[in-house]
Amino acid sequence: MSLFSAVELAPRDPILGLNEQFNADTNLNKVNLGVGVYYDDQGKLPLLECVLKAEQQMMSSPKPRGYLPIDGIAAYDRAVQNLVFGEASPAVKEGRVATVQTLGGTGGLKVGADFLKKINPSAKVLISDPSWENHRALFSQAGFPVETYPYYDAQLRGINFEGMLAALRGAPEGTVVVLHACCHNPTGYDITPAQWDEVVAACQSRKLVPFLDMAYQGFGHGIEEDGAVVGKFVASGLTFLVATSFSKSFSLYGERVGALSVLCQGKDEAARVLSQLKIAIRTNYSNPPIHGATVVTMVLTTPELRALWERELGEMRLRIKQMRLALVEKLKAAGVKQDMTFITEQIGMFSYSGLSKDQMVRLREEFGVYGTDSGRMCVAALNSRNIDYVCESIAKVL
Ligand code: PMP
Repeated sequence: MSLFSAVELAPRDPILGLNEQFNADTNLNKVNLGVGVYYDDQGKLPLLECVLKAEQQMMSSPKPRGYLPIDGIAAYDRAVQNLVFGEASPAVKEGRVATVQTLGGTGGLKVGADFLKKINPSAKVLISDPSWENHRALFSQAGFPVETYPYYDAQLRGINFEGMLAALRGAPEGTVVVLHACCHNPTGYDITPAQWDEVVAACQSRKLVPFLDMAYQGFGHGIEEDGAVVGKFVASGLTFLVATSFSKSFSLYGERVGALSVLCQGKDEAARVLSQLKIAIRTNYSNPPIHGATVVTMVLTTPELRALWERELGEMRLRIKQMRLALVEKLKAAGVKQDMTFITEQIGMFSYSGLSKDQMVRLREEFGVYGTDSGRMCVAALNSRNIDYVCESIAKVL
């Protein structure tokens, strides 16, 4: 008998499990639409030119690798604040934002969750139904009871906004509400700016704690447009949290570059909050890594690199939109009778295709086309070579 003999085998991560199944599939036509990763039209993970240029500059004057401060590179934290809140943001100028560098967007969520648990241990967390797989697990692990607010409505093929609002209005004071700032994962449906106003008002009147998850800034309508919701929360006078990820927008998945920003009521409060965020980091992984955050800082703060990034991000955004249009057109050409134009109403990397679990299983087993059982497909993994095959396969299972 060892200490570990009774340890149970945890279920496989649903998305990573799908990847393993894909890798083992011998179908030569197989297409992986299960992942949350952007691929270019050649089906390759891009290495952005702005990233490469920054790295070349870094390597031309290599630096020793000491420990970073607990909250990361100061210039990075400032660059994140300017990006998320806007260069001219009075909140930033007044020193009301506490920002720390984190291990990806996930790290930002976890540091925020640990901090919130400490200051309000009896709060509960509301996430959207459905939401990114990891939200429930992450906030549960941090010790919170996690419930959902209505979001996607299959009948409506869209958002049950009234249901969402009613849930927020009925939530007890102090409830942490996790909101996808843009490009909702997994559905691809975002609420409108006018609906955001109502969400902000509900958070305000119910004294809720908004936690914005911004994993796709720039993948929807544009950098500013996607970040506009942050401005709405700032204007409301609420205090709130924002987790940032550069995994997608810089194609830096494996470098783990993210941040957590907490908007506070004053400079002094921000300093106290920062000191608590640093404890959460220190006791988890001590301090963050250098490479990815240095790249992102250089790109965000060097005008030529910044312009190049904005162009490259724009190209990724445009390619996804083109794939959505092509999907609608080619599904029709493949004989699909039902109206699929909802695909172009969705935004960001993902599409909730409306296909049932049985249809998704058939797609996988008979055609080697992999999406999640919920019907989520990654539009950013489609390209001019695989899209015809994907559309013909979908047409056969519909
Ligand atoms: N939030 C959402 C909604 C996401 O989709 C993702 C990435 N799949 C993350 C957070 C985590 O991002 P990162 O990989 O930077 O940790």
